[in-house]
Amino acid sequence: MEGSAGCRVRWLVDEKDGAPNFAMRQFDVAPGGHTPRHSHPYEHEIYVLEGAGEVIEGDQPRPLKAGDVVYVAPDDVHQFRNTGTTTMKFLCMVPHIPEGTPVKVLPECAG
Ligand SMILES: [Zn+2]
Repeated sequence: MEGSAGCRVRWLVDEKDGAPNFAMRQFDVAPGGHTPRHSHPYEHEIYVLEGAGEVIEGDQPRPLKAGDVVYVAPDDVHQFRNTGTTTMKFLCMVPHIPEGTPVKVLPECAG
């Protein structure tokens, strides 16, 4: 996706598994990489698995490490950046919205 760098996403649970409402995704962000700085009308629920980074919420960066939890509210501008020397990995839960409904989940980054 435009605005991302060094970022891959794997969909661990989604509609292909029969999940009607929520999807679980794993993001792998390379050192120096980041997700796009963006907003959308649905929330993220993030759990950091490993690595070191930061989340930009509005203009404020907040450091992140393994075990940290981030709630991104609907329409909040956000970006995740790897500030460490190893891959930063985190889980990200989003509503799974079927095609054709007013809210569509954005791709975030490649993969
Ligand atoms: Zn997002």
